[in-house]
Amino acid sequence: MAHTKTKLIIIAAPSGAGKTSVTRHLLKALPDHLAFSISCATRKPRNYEKDKVDYYFISVEEFTQKIEQKEFVEWEMVYEGKYYGTLKSEVERIWQLHKSPLLDVDVQGGINIQQLYPHNSLSLFIEPPSIDELERRLKARGTETPESLQARLNKAAYELSFKPQFDRVIMNDQLDRACAEAEAVVREFLGI
Ligand code: 5GP
Repeated sequence: MAHTKTKLIIIAAPSGAGKTSVTRHLLKALPDHLAFSISCATRKPRNYEKDKVDYYFISVEEFTQKIEQKEFVEWEMVYEGKYYGTLKSEVERIWQLHKSPLLDVDVQGGINIQQLYPHNSLSLFIEPPSIDELERRLKARGTETPESLQARLNKAAYELSFKPQFDRVIMNDQLDRACAEAEAVVREFLGI
């Protein structure tokens, strides 16, 4: 699949907008064309998460060392004291498989990556129907403390203002529809 070799797909959204579900759908629907780009993160794994599958879970010291050694395409402190970043070696690993990396990143990271790869990236912004709905979904997910829930909601309101900078905005009012739309847009971008 030479045509997908150096393309990449960015999915960004406020936390809880359904980005993970859309990402999973795309990976399942297009397994020969896409591979999940595993980021480094310094937060603790949730109980259902696996090291080197969901993230490369590393210490702040290791993360700082990788920053110094310029190993990241981009990195960010997404939440207070919590670092996330995409390794150059990860993107290369996936291109060597002749697939396109699918990057699940926060909104600022999405904009930064898009600027680094202006000609070969597709950036999707998954939009939640409302902040109230976002709050309901995050509570239902049950992974947040009251403080981290509030931090995510505050960040979400700010992040929504960046959606015009993305190539495509996909409203996630209904998950099946949003997944189908995302798949159609990705297929078009990859020419498949
Ligand atoms: P979570 O802690 O819920 O797994 O992720 C928090 C946020 O960090 C999500 O919006 C996720 O997409 C984002 N994120 C994950 N990996 C990266 C990365 O490599 N770079 C950036 N900028 N954000 C990331």
